[in-house]
Formats: sequence, C-alpha cells, structure tokens
Amino acid sequence: MTSPVWHPFTQHALEPPPPRIARTGGAYLETEDGRRILDAISSWWVITHGHRHPAIMAAIREASETLDQIIFAGFTHAPAEALARELVALAPPGLAYVFFSDSGSTAVEVALKMALGTFRNRGVARSRIVVMEGSYHGDTIGAMSVGARGVFNAAYAPLLFEVDRIPFPAPGREQATLDAFEALARGGAAAALIVEPLVLGAGGMLIYPPFVLAELARIAAATGTLLIADEVMTGWGRTGTLFASTQAGVSPDILCTSKGLTGGAVPLAATLAKPDVFAAHVSQDRAHTFFHSSSYTANPIACAAGLANVKVWREEPVEARIAHLCALQAERLARFSDDARFENVRRCGTIAALDLKVPAGGYLAEVGPRLRAFFLERNLLVRPLGNVLYAMPPYCVTAAELDRLYDAIDEAAARFGGAA
Ligand SMILES: *Cc1c(COP(=O)(O)O)cnc(C)c1O
Repeated sequence: MTSPVWHPFTQHALEPPPPRIARTGGAYLETEDGRRILDAISSWWVITHGHRHPAIMAAIREASETLDQIIFAGFTHAPAEALARELVALAPPGLAYVFFSDSGSTAVEVALKMALGTFRNRGVARSRIVVMEGSYHGDTIGAMSVGARGVFNAAYAPLLFEVDRIPFPAPGREQATLDAFEALARGGAAAALIVEPLVLGAGGMLIYPPFVLAELARIAAATGTLLIADEVMTGWGRTGTLFASTQAGVSPDILCTSKGLTGGAVPLAATLAKPDVFAAHVSQDRAHTFFHSSSYTANPIACAAGLANVKVWREEPVEARIAHLCALQAERLARFSDDARFENVRRCGTIAALDLKVPAGGYLAEVGPRLRAFFLERNLLVRPLGNVLYAMPPYCVTAAELDRLYDAIDEAAARFGGAA
C-alpha cells in the first residue's frame, strides 16, 4: 500500500516507509506499534521543554473555546497583544514592534522585506543583502537566496536573487569575515546583513564566538546597515540563553523567531523590529505601508500557545534545566574530544556536534542515511547533516537518555567511521 503523502527532504526512491507516530510526550515519539523513539533532535529543533508540555496544550484547548483564525488587518485580539508585549520584554533591548507570521522562512522573508522597505521609503538606494557563507535561512525563494547554495537549491538557482557573501568566521580567520563585511558595508549598497547568531544550524552546526557577532553589529551600526538576527533555531534557550544575540550584547535591528516560540507545539513566527524600521513604514503615503500578510498571521490559538510558552519560561526553572543540559552535553562530548574517529568536537549551549571522519563528507555523504537508519533501529531519532552528528534534545532529556544516545554514537563510529 503506497501513501499519497510526499515528505519533506525525503528521497522516496531510496527511503523505507516512515514509522507512524501515534503519540508524543516528553522526549519521546511513540509509534503505532508501541516503539518509543528518543527525539534527540527535538523534531527538527522545534520542541524545547518536551513534547506536549501540559500548560501549552491546556492553553491551546482553552483558546480554541473562544477563538479561531481572524483577519489580522484591521482587527486584533488579546493573545496577539499579550504575546507581542511579552516578546518585546524578553527580546534584546530596543526591539519594540512585532510582526507575526507562521514559519521561520516567512519570518525571514518579512525581515528582508522590512529592510528593503525601510530604505526605499527613506528614498535611499540601498538594496543589497549581505549573508554569511554556509548559512541557512529557510526554503522559500527569498530565504534560499540568502542561504548557502548547493544541491538543495541548484534546481531553483534561476529564481534566486544575488547577494553579497562574507566568509564564515572560522577559528583564527575571524578578521577576514569582519574585513569583508566592513568593505561591503562601506560600499554603500548594503541594506542589511542577515546572520544566524553564534551557530549556523543546517549548514552543519558551525559555531563562532560572540565577539564576531558583536563586531559585525558594531560595523553595521557604524555604516547604517541593518542587522537581521535569524534566531529561528538559536532562540528559546538552545545556545544557553533565551536568545543567542544576548551573549554578544547585541540588539539587532530585526530579529526572527519561530521554532521554539510555542515550545514547538503549533506553528507561529514573529519578526521583531526596532522603532526606526517601523517608523520608516509609517506615513501619510499609503505606498509606504508594509505590504505583507499570510492568511494565518497571528493565529489566536498559536499566540495562546506562545503565551503559555512564555509563562513556562517565567514560572518553571527553564534556565536551570538548560544550564544542567549544557553540563550534561559537555560531559558526554568530552569522551570524544581526543577520539581520532571524530573531528571538530564542539558545543554551543545545549547543542553538541561532532564530525565523523568518513571518506566522503558533505550532506549527501552516503553515510548520512545509513547513520539515520542505524540510530532508528536503536529507537533514537538522530538526523545527521551528512557526516555531522549532533544532539539537540528537548530540555527535559535525562542523563541516562543522553548516555544511551552517546553510547550509540560511539557504536556508530565503530561501524561507519575512520575509513578516511
Ligand atoms: C529552520 C530555520 C529556518 C526556517 O524555518 P521554517 O519554519 O522551517 O520555515 C530559518 N532559519 C533558520 C536559522 C532555521 O534553522
């Protein structure tokens, strides 16, 4: 029996039928036939506290008693108003306006449009976007345009717009990144720099130090270039702090958040902006309006879930859980720090990553799907980025569960690694 479902990032010719999940809870996915799979990647980085956090699920039930989708142009509602206030209070200082949408990619599209609209409405001819090599910002056309080019988007290259690229700040080569940005920013055409703060996620969990982000922000401010922080993955505690920008003392002009915004329960995104970005769109001239919407903008049930998530952050010891998870990850990674089968053993906050040495690396490395199958056989959801193994579990994961994961990583290395 074949299914009509077309899955994302899935080569249907090569992959076995996927397990059917009947139930989720805490750090686990449970299949229809009763297997319990440890979700070591938080279901593609969205689940923060754990699956089906009771307070968030209760908020969804409660909101659905009185509200469903309502048009958000010309109307508003309490969940959106309250969540926007909370986001402004929690975000790096100065971000005072909140534009809701429904996915990380859309939050990025909104950010890019805000940046270009700002300069156009000011009558300033600046429209280039500067991006960091190896970045990922989503899969819509604009988000792909500002991300790394490769096998994932080769077919769509004719549709992607040109951007200016600065190198990834690899250890010891940070100055080259800063110099490249400074040259572009002083060139006068750059409207904005978009970056993933501290960790490039889909690009391979590449980590760079806070001082680089701080310097990029300084150059952006000095040259009037807008800084867009894509915190879609890094937000909501992944890097150890609520937002990663905070670790660099950076307040971006525009900030994108999505994945953990509802604790991962339902889709929601927000693009936060500083007052001058908002002000550039406020005019007696209707042509200066910010022309963007999606049908499900600020869905009230999703906003209620977002509010419940914020409440969890305020009322439960989330920061302590995150600090504990950081320590657990550090301890377990240490076992591989001198292991010749791995390289680039690294961690940023709750995110741990290491590269398995294999003959041919890269995302399409044959080893990727084989590793995935190997972990799934052991009831572990791990989805390597090529030969990059990483653990990004929900914050409720226990030491024993992580031990099981890292034992399997060790076993996987014995099976697949070291063939270089
Ligand atoms: C996942 C991700 C996106 C895209 O989010 P979607 O909700 O999948 O559209 C954008 N930016 C970053 C940094 C991401 O990790």
